[in-house]
Amino acid sequence: MSDLTKFPIETEALVVQSPGSDLVMTKIAIQDLRPDEVLVEIKYSGLCHTDLLLVEGHIPSLPYPAIAGHEGAGVIVALGGDPDSSVALSLGLTVGTSVLCSYFSCGSCRNCKAKLTSKCDSIIWGNLGGVRQSDSSTAATLANGSTATTPVSAHFFGQSSLSRLAVVNVRSIVKCDYPDQMGLYAPMGCGYQTGAGTVLNTLKPDPQDLVVILGTGSVGMAAMMACAALGVKHVIVVDRAQIKLDLAREIFEAVEGSGGTITLINDGPRRSNGEFVDRVKKATKGLGAKFVIDTTGSGEVIEDMMECVALGGTAVSVGFPPSGQMITIDAGAFFIGNKSWITVLEGDAYPPEFIPRMIDLHRQGKFPIEKLIKIYAVEDLKQARADEEAGKVITPVLNFSTTASSSQQSSKI
Ligand SMILES: [Zn+2]
Ligand SMILES: [Zn+2]
Repeated sequence: MSDLTKFPIETEALVVQSPGSDLVMTKIAIQDLRPDEVLVEIKYSGLCHTDLLLVEGHIPSLPYPAIAGHEGAGVIVALGGDPDSSVALSLGLTVGTSVLCSYFSCGSCRNCKAKLTSKCDSIIWGNLGGVRQSDSSTAATLANGSTATTPVSAHFFGQSSLSRLAVVNVRSIVKCDYPDQMGLYAPMGCGYQTGAGTVLNTLKPDPQDLVVILGTGSVGMAAMMACAALGVKHVIVVDRAQIKLDLAREIFEAVEGSGGTITLINDGPRRSNGEFVDRVKKATKGLGAKFVIDTTGSGEVIEDMMECVALGGTAVSVGFPPSGQMITIDAGAFFIGNKSWITVLEGDAYPPEFIPRMIDLHRQGKFPIEKLIKIYAVEDLKQARADEEAGKVITPVLNFSTTASSSQQSSKI
């Protein structure tokens, strides 16, 4: 590795050159570190739906080229600032500390001070702007010989972890007490936190409350495991992939202490000739569910979600719809049904406390994520995406601990 005290530092990252283009392992240069940042050697990074939104150009605030990734795990290799100004040191973080990376929050607004960091005043710009929230700069540039000054959007969720070295804001850092399990715990920073937090922090269902979960990706599975861990008596899970539904049942029943039942519905939204609304209603004697959680972000699914909600119940969007997605609902039926529709970002989780809580649940057998995760060498990104789309793996995690390649390679995700 090059000298990590002299900037710029050259490394490699999966760069998206323009909306919809391939992810290409590309040489970049890291220009500097600020006192509130650390340089992390990324060992693993999960892939999340929001990364795909960036790749496909659905995050309009973010200029290209850009580096995605927001479920990083690795080791701190350099600290920003000098020993007197380093924020990391003041937090007990130093070179060699193993860390998990989560979303960014400013730390100084009213909600951050109350640990309501998912409602931070800077949540949008600070996570999706592609630049530092503090001064709108980016630490990354392309390093293609003489064109070393082309800026690259980074700081995605305070980290842009699809990179061998990532500049991470200390607000995104959570210490990892289990360095050997970093690959397993990397997706705690977004996907698992979003699903589990929505259940454990936001909805807090009673055992008698029926919960319907739409979609069985990482977020949906985490929500389902959290319901099982809470002892919710009946969970309905909807997806179009039978292989994922079968896994959902296996995992639900594997949660330590879960005594509930799970109903599987293999179907899609009405506008796509699906019938899941009718089947949820049939399974609930026409009443619908107290809580319905959409993890897909699909407009069609969101519209149908409203009809699955019982009188006085709550529809919950946790999947990120593409920018500009419009939906139509029957306002009268929604009103007289006394329903609520809420969105939950990052499971309303305060990561320094919630990520260790999820890890504790995992170690108690109540959050069996090992059944969801498969780790791929970063060179096998294309295979990871193909396996996820085929339902063969729920949570692909990329291993960056491979030798940096001298030649560029391309992988479309
Ligand atoms: Zn804030
Ligand atoms: Zn995410």
